[in-house]
Amino acid sequence: MTVTDLAAPASTRPSPLPRLAVLVAAPRGFCAGVDRAIHIVELAIERYGAPVYVRHEIVHNRYVVETLKAKGAIFVEELDEVPDGVPVVFSAHGVPKAVPAAAEARGLNYLDATCPLVSKVHRQAERLVDAGRHILFIGHAGHPEVVGTFGQVPAGAMTLIETVEDARSIVVPDEVNLGFLTQTTLSVDDTADVVAELQRRFPAIQGPKGDDICYATSNRQAAVKAMAPRCDLVLVIGAANSSNSQRLREVAEREGARAHLIGRAADIDWSWFDGVATVGVTAGASAPEVLVQEVMAALAERYTITSEDITTAVEQVVFKLPRALAQ
Ligand code: SF4
Repeated sequence: MTVTDLAAPASTRPSPLPRLAVLVAAPRGFCAGVDRAIHIVELAIERYGAPVYVRHEIVHNRYVVETLKAKGAIFVEELDEVPDGVPVVFSAHGVPKAVPAAAEARGLNYLDATCPLVSKVHRQAERLVDAGRHILFIGHAGHPEVVGTFGQVPAGAMTLIETVEDARSIVVPDEVNLGFLTQTTLSVDDTADVVAELQRRFPAIQGPKGDDICYATSNRQAAVKAMAPRCDLVLVIGAANSSNSQRLREVAEREGARAHLIGRAADIDWSWFDGVATVGVTAGASAPEVLVQEVMAALAERYTITSEDITTAVEQVVFKLPRALAQ
């Protein structure tokens, strides 16, 4: 018997999987602020026992929220849903000043998981108001970070600017005494255009050098910018309510790739892959690496993949825990 005789007839031989090149962006996924916020909830459960209440999704990711729920966290939207005598954690996005004040008034044990880079913007806002400046805040209406930052200053001290058109048309109380600040998770390119328009119209405006967009948002966008021109399709793993994830999808599209935001592998519509030779994969700052690996495994089930990391920065940022949990 020859080797040829042992081989299955050509018609019954499994056909090889089609080839797919996969580019994987780095940095991607968890940033230091998200890592710290999740750690705060886990440590609070360890330290005080379940349940620990969390006001708002600790970070915008369903998988993270469900995992913490399984460990004993209870998520609520408002402080009055928290019973007396149990600890409560404020989310990474930050909260208006009225929230910790209300917690203190009730004698609640609260832990603030606001990202230190968001807290930095809060302090900048206070300083501008103390200096008598009206603040133009560049951000997205309704995002919890924006709500939290507006809640650092008296009502009427800050006006929201969302677009270049807003910057062109805004009427301000006093052109000389103006300041600007930004949300931390915006599009780097769009924000630069808005800031340039504000500086053109109001040369005396004061603000941060450039913007307040955080290192993690900038780095993830830069990696997608480098990766997307080589991709037919980009998958961004992240939640629909995650600002920085939505911006990654937009950056990929601007670089000429089709792009989809997915929560996890089960959300992939395989018809997206028709005619695709190269796919890019990235994840927003609140999406855990386990979901990236789940997507990679799903791709490997259907394709013979060759993967390549597109690394544009190496991050080593770590934020300290609140003092109550650090000991
Ligand atoms: S995305 Fe930036 S601002 Fe938001 S939690 Fe992460 S590091 Fe902090």
